[in-house]
Amino acid sequence: MKKVLITGAAGFLGSHLCDRFIKEGYRVIGMDNLITGNLKNIEHLFPLKEFEFHFHDVSKFVHVPGHLDYILHFASPASPIDYLKMPIQTLKVGSLGTHNLLGLAKEKRARILVASTSEVYGDPLVHPQREDYWGNVNPVGPRGVYDEAKRFQEAMTMAYHTYHGLETRIVRIFNTYGPRMRVNDGRVLPTFFSQAIRGEGLTVFGSGSQTRSFCYVDDLVEGVYRLLLSDYSQPINIGNPEEITILDFARQVLRLVNNPKAKIVYRDLPIDDPKIRQPDISKAKNILQWTPLVCRQEGLKKALLYFRAVVPY
Ligand code: UDP
Repeated sequence: MKKVLITGAAGFLGSHLCDRFIKEGYRVIGMDNLITGNLKNIEHLFPLKEFEFHFHDVSKFVHVPGHLDYILHFASPASPIDYLKMPIQTLKVGSLGTHNLLGLAKEKRARILVASTSEVYGDPLVHPQREDYWGNVNPVGPRGVYDEAKRFQEAMTMAYHTYHGLETRIVRIFNTYGPRMRVNDGRVLPTFFSQAIRGEGLTVFGSGSQTRSFCYVDDLVEGVYRLLLSDYSQPINIGNPEEITILDFARQVLRLVNNPKAKIVYRDLPIDDPKIRQPDISKAKNILQWTPLVCRQEGLKKALLYFRAVVPY
C-alpha cells in the first residue's frame, strides 16, 4: 500500500486531501499542530486502520517511522487575520517546516508536493497571473510573512530538486472554498456567508472593486492529485478563473442567502490588499488535463448548505 504524509491534515484543504487519498486506497499519516486546524475535520477517519494522526509542529524536526511514498505539505495559517496574529509561526512553517519536510522526503526517497499560493504574485501588475510572472510583493508589509515564506518555500523546493534530484511538485493555490472552512477565519467567503445568514452587514473592504476568483474545493483537490502523479516539477496554478469584484460577490451571496435583514456595509481596505487576482490555468489544462468543473453559482449553493449547518445565529 502506498503511504502519504499530509501536513495540515486537520485544516480545510488538508482534511479534504486526507479523504481523497484514503478513497484512492493509500495509507495516510495526517500531521497537524492544531493552531488553526480542527480535529472535527478528520474525526471520521480516526476509526480507519489506513489513517493515523500525528500531533506535531513541522517547523520542528519531523520523524515518521517506516517508508513514505509521498509528502504533501499543506500546513500553514492561511487567512490574512491568522498570519497577522501568528506572523512568526507563519514564517517558520513555510521556511523551517518546508526544509524539514524536504529533508524527510530526501531521507525516504519520497516525492513531495508543497502548497504555494497566488500570494507569490502579491499585488500583481500582470493580469491574469501566469506562472512565469515573478510577482509584486512587499516583504515588510503585514502579508509579507505569508508571501515571503511561500516564496522561500518555492526556492528551497526547487533547490532540493536541482541539487539533490528530489522529485518535487509546487502548486500555486488561488482562493478556494467549501465545507470545513473555519467560520471565523476572517476570509471573505465565510465572513459574508455568516453575516448574511445572521442578517448582519456584509463588510465590503474598500469600494469592493478589488477582484478574486474562487475555486470549489473538489476541483482544487483533483488538481493537486493530478499534479502529484504528474512528472511536472515547475510551479503550476490551480484555481478557477471565474473572476468577480468583491462588491458583486457580496451581492451574489445576498441573493443566494436571501435574508432581508442582511445588507452591504463598507469598511477600510486592509494594507497591501491585492487589487486583482485571476489565475491563468493554461498550464494546468495542457499538462494535467485539468479544468475546474464547478461554477461559482453551483459551488456557492453547496457551500451555503455547510454554512447554514455551522453558523450559530
Ligand atoms: N474582504 C472583504 N470583507 C471581509 C473580508 C475580506 O471585503 O470581511 C476582501 C479583502 O479585502 C480582499 C478579498 O475580500 O480584497 C479577499 O479576502 P480574503 O481575506 O478572503 O483573502 P485574500 O484573497 O485577500 O488572501
